[in-house]
Amino acid sequence: MDQIDNASLSQAGDVARGLLDLLATATLITLAVAALVAVAILLNHLARRRLVDRLTAPRLAQMRALNERYRQALGPEVDALAHLRQHVALPSKDAFDRYDPTAGLSAYLTDSAPSLAAVPADTWRAYAAEARAIVDSTPRPAVPWHLLWSADAPHEQATSQLREAELVHITWVWSYVSPKGRNRYIANRAFDAQDVYVALVASEERARHEASREHQRALMTPSLRFDILKRDGYRCQLCGRTAAEGARLEVDHKVPVAAGGLTVPENLWTLCHDCNNGKSAKEL
Ligand SMILES: [Zn+2]
Repeated sequence: MDQIDNASLSQAGDVARGLLDLLATATLITLAVAALVAVAILLNHLARRRLVDRLTAPRLAQMRALNERYRQALGPEVDALAHLRQHVALPSKDAFDRYDPTAGLSAYLTDSAPSLAAVPADTWRAYAAEARAIVDSTPRPAVPWHLLWSADAPHEQATSQLREAELVHITWVWSYVSPKGRNRYIANRAFDAQDVYVALVASEERARHEASREHQRALMTPSLRFDILKRDGYRCQLCGRTAAEGARLEVDHKVPVAAGGLTVPENLWTLCHDCNNGKSAKEL
């Protein structure tokens, strides 16, 4: 009895040892496979990065030289645009819908960075064009199959790194939060040097229009006013009433100055105060 028990005990011990050995071997194999996979991932990562570095290195050097060259022309204030992030909180949903981020950028430049707004727009355009040319010169390399990588990935990574190195990186965020925070609307746009150029051209255009409107208003002299009243027989051209009949006569632009109307006799007519106010700034 005892002998049999001993034999079966030692047999059980052998089985347990065998299981433990198997477990140890399995663990070793798992660890070895995991280590191999980790090494493969690391090598893959390094090889991908080398591929991207090979594409970007010469162009990054070009970009830095370009930035140095233009930093002189643009002035030290340009460094503030390198990673500028602006957040505009709007007072209503309507204002949010109608918000024009480019106009926001041009107002920001004029008000907060006057020395940058004073740089000729063409300088910004020239920088933007040269920076774009550097980014666009990035070739699309053939991706070796063992990198298990999409054919466009290295080119995409390289160009986004190059764009990051450009002088201007503005993130423009605008939002509206309804009372009690029930509805939130948020949008954003990234601006680069080309956008700065567009914003400055737009603000120059606005200034020119404003100047021309002021000019048109200044052309409305008392003597011209009198000529128009006389031409129209001192009579409202809509209702026909005269000053004698109690009408307060005014000389009005048919196409409003704000809409580009000129101060010339063809665009002027006599109206009574009532008809003029009914008409307001609408075009007839
Ligand atoms: Zn009238």
